[in-house]
Formats: sequence, structure tokens, C-alpha cells
Amino acid sequence: MLLNMNELLKVAKENKFAVGAFNVADSNFLRVVVEAAEENDSPAIIAIHPTELAYIKDDFLEYVLTRVKNSKVPFVVHMDHGDSLASIMRAIHAGFSSVMIDGSLLPFEENIAVTKEVVEVCHKIGVSVEGELGTIGSTGTSVEGGVTEVIYTEPKDAEKFITDTGIDTLAVAIGTAHGIYPKDVKPKLKMDVLEAIKEKVTIPLVLHGGSANPDPEISKAVEIGIQKVNISSDYKFAYYKKCREILATTELWDPNTINPECIEAAKKVVKQKMGLFHSIGKAQIYREQKQAPWREEFL
Ligand SMILES: [Zn+2]
Repeated sequence: MLLNMNELLKVAKENKFAVGAFNVADSNFLRVVVEAAEENDSPAIIAIHPTELAYIKDDFLEYVLTRVKNSKVPFVVHMDHGDSLASIMRAIHAGFSSVMIDGSLLPFEENIAVTKEVVEVCHKIGVSVEGELGTIGSTGTSVEGGVTEVIYTEPKDAEKFITDTGIDTLAVAIGTAHGIYPKDVKPKLKMDVLEAIKEKVTIPLVLHGGSANPDPEISKAVEIGIQKVNISSDYKFAYYKKCREILATTELWDPNTINPECIEAAKKVVKQKMGLFHSIGKAQIYREQKQAPWREEFL
């Protein structure tokens, strides 16, 4: 089933679990996420970054949407780090049920203005919106980028940002970075910042750059109140590690002889993350609530 982010995370919040958002940029990775979710009976979020959309092309969304609508497990199809109203409009046109507008590098008032404009457009047709306040770091290893110096989200600003923009979810900066950390860098999440934000706001909070952080830190963040955790590098790394092994030791060239083992290797990572988020078995709750198909009330 296809839901928007509000519908998905409302249940997650009530039942105290988080949902993984996994970046997808081809049909093999779509299979990884969808099949792992179905085998775990867990909800999942298919995240597509504008650079990934540029690669897969908009027509690919028809396959994504058909596949997830035919599943008994709830999914959101979400644009990750939309950078302008134009990229958001493109996402809506392609059928995304949720978008992120990332104005985090703009001055505070400008971030409010651009985010508010996106919310006004998206809410007219039931598309949910994620905003970002503070900055996510960059390890220099991922397409999502980021900044070298993390600016932590100010709890007071978070409250004003949510009220002024009307966003549905907020990506907070508590010390994570996109990509896989260099060997000498140990990420450390600031739980006190997260707790202070949580005291001031009620909407679901999002953790970007969730790959390669120690499992206990992610679990703790979920416990405090993170409802969506973005994972990209960790499971893509597992996929291509297996792929490199196969290519280095065989003469295979057919995709259907090389990719299945890679898909299984990446699925292992996704399933382990779902355990960390406590989302395994939670798809049942959505089925019991007989969630109306997304956008029914708007179409
Ligand atoms: Zn991100």
C-alpha cells in the first residue's frame, strides 16, 4: 500500500517505533527494500534523491508505484533533499507521496519562506513535507553531500520553524553525516539536543545520515523520539561488496546470475536496521486500521 508520510509516521509515533528511509536508484535496490520490508512485515520508505531521479528518470516511478501499491506492506515514496519548488513539482508530477524541501543552508527566514511555499502547494493534494533545520555533515562519500561543520538544530528555532511553515516532519541536526565515516572519525550524536527539541515539538523527527552510526546510538535516538531514519550508504556498500566478490572470482556477465546474491547481501543490512528501528511486524497495525489508499480524499 502507498501512504503519505503523515499517515505512515502517525502510527509509528503512537506505537513508538521508527521507519527506515532507504535511498533507491535502480530496480535491484527497489527489490532489496520492498522484499526486505515484506519478509519482515515492516513498513518502509523508498527515498529518491534528485540526483537519483536524474539517473533513473521519471518513468521509473511508474514501476515503483505499481510495485508498492500491490504490496500488503505500507510504503511511502519520498523525495529526499528536494532543493527547489521546481524539483518538488517534478516529484509531485511523477507520483511521489511525500517530499523533503531542504532549505537548511539558507538564512533562517529564507528557509521558512521556501519551506512554507512548498507546504502550501503540497498540502493541497495530500503530499506531506519534511523540512530541515541545522545542517547534516558530509563525509565526502555520498551523493547527498552535506557540510564540513555541523550546525546543531536550535530547539527554540525548531518550534518557530514548525509553526511558521506547517511542515509535517522535521529533519534535525544532532551530529550525523551523510556517507560512510573515515576510519579515524567516530560519530557522536548529541542526545541532549534531541531531548531538548523533543520537549518543544510534537511532529515526527527525522535523522539523516543514519549509516555507519553505532547501533546503540540509533536505538537510543529512536527511543527518545526519532520516527524516520535515513539509510543509504550502509546497504549500498553491502550490495557492491558482494558484487565485487562475484566479479573478481567468476566470469559471469548475466545480471540475473550476478545480482540475486547482491540483493540478498543488501537485504540483510536493511532487515537488521528494521530490527533496530523496532518496525518489524508493524505492517499489521496499518492493515488492521484499514488505511485508505493515499490521496483517496483528494481524487
Ligand atoms: Zn539527508
